[in-house]
Amino acid sequence: MQIPFDNTYVKLPDEMYHRQIAEAASSPELVAWNDALAAELGIQGGTEAEKTAVFGGNQVPEGGEPLAQLYAGHQFGHYNPQLGDGRALLLGEVVDTHGRRRDIQLKGSGRTPFSRGGDGRAWVGPVIREYIVSEGMHALGVPTTRALAAVTTGDLVYRERALPGAVLTRVAASHIRVGTFQVLAERQRYDLLEALYEYTVQRHYPEATSPVELVAHVAAKQAELVAQWMGYGFIHGVMNTDNCTLSGETIDYGPCAFQDRFDLAKVFSSIDHHGRYSYSSQANIIVWNMAQLANALVPLMPSPEAAVPEFQQVISHMQRQVAHAWQLCFARKLGISDPEETDAGLIESLLQLMHRFDLDFTNTFHALTTGTLDAYAKQASGLTDWLRRWETRVAPLNPEPVMRGVNPWIIPRNHQVERAIQAAVDGDFTIMHRMVDAVTQPFDVNERFREFSIAPEPGEEVTVTFCGT
Ligand code: AMP
Ligand code: MG
Repeated sequence: MQIPFDNTYVKLPDEMYHRQIAEAASSPELVAWNDALAAELGIQGGTEAEKTAVFGGNQVPEGGEPLAQLYAGHQFGHYNPQLGDGRALLLGEVVDTHGRRRDIQLKGSGRTPFSRGGDGRAWVGPVIREYIVSEGMHALGVPTTRALAAVTTGDLVYRERALPGAVLTRVAASHIRVGTFQVLAERQRYDLLEALYEYTVQRHYPEATSPVELVAHVAAKQAELVAQWMGYGFIHGVMNTDNCTLSGETIDYGPCAFQDRFDLAKVFSSIDHHGRYSYSSQANIIVWNMAQLANALVPLMPSPEAAVPEFQQVISHMQRQVAHAWQLCFARKLGISDPEETDAGLIESLLQLMHRFDLDFTNTFHALTTGTLDAYAKQASGLTDWLRRWETRVAPLNPEPVMRGVNPWIIPRNHQVERAIQAAVDGDFTIMHRMVDAVTQPFDVNERFREFSIAPEPGEEVTVTFCGT
């Protein structure tokens, strides 16, 4: 197998990472392989045995220079001075067939110096969840890390009970996080901070000419990203600054979920006691995260005191960017591609109805698209009036094509992800594969995949999610 590695992170000062190889897997098996993504990355050849050895962690591929990256981060608002790749290894980078630099990373590959108390492993559950949800997210058109491979290790991982271990191979525009900057700023290693800044600008935003501009670029991407999440009813669940990328891709599918019954204040994560990362809070939290990035970059400015108002301006502008991106996103879901100020009211009243009558988020917008919402949501009093307002607004437009591209039929529903995981624990990956097929064609109505379009019955509903490391 040939992977056209072209590694650059490893050329940064070695205090920013630790070279490390994966722990061996006793009897690895390749359970999922993303052919299309492999081709895009320029990966050629490779027998199943080779892929299994490389992506299960038993063999360093030619040209790979595995390392664990250093970072820190605010976890639920509290600064943790050292996190880092505690269960992941960057194998290296490739420049893909579109000319984009991509990281290839193993996740669940064993201990590193950043593992703290952890075992560096992953069980099959989070591996499958990330595989399905990240591929579904990509198909929805949302910037995200991707899944290249899943390999079961044949070893047991001990959580609340013994579970089968697995390794996920994740592909990202990069794994540079807000926390990658924070750790260097906090340690007052301004030489390393400068090196990371230069590297990030060159890799992601070559047009940026100052740290303030870098923050502005990242903020614009993140504002757009979070609006898209909200437009699909997605809750990330753990928007810590170490899970927030400079590239603007979604990263770290832990206790995440797409909402079924809509609730504006919905929280899934078992550890999010105060709703810090609830559905609606995401719009504010992303601004807070960008403020932390700005803080970390202040020392790079020629006159830090003078720079603070410049950064503040970027951050306060971001609040408007998020609101604007949100409005644009939801207007499109109603078939309006050039919204007016007054459309906000139309959007809000539909969301209020959905919230009040526990309507399924995805199915509501899909029914609106197909003209069946009045039949779908008979119980929602007030809906008829809302539909009349909406019809008046969109009458002169041609809303359907716009709506078809943003109101999916299928999203990766959590109760289905759980089913796929349960089967996988028993060694059966067929549900996982069917689900990947279904969620990667989210906008097409395909009878073959109808089961994945159905909202959970009350008893099937997943109400709590876990970090599940
Ligand atoms: P996450 O919840 O995935 O954002 O991870 C937060 C931090 O905990 C990161 O530094 C991870 O590398 C680390 N971590 C999570 N799970 C494990 C594990 N099983 N072993 C070692 N470190 C872990
Ligand atoms: Mg993380």
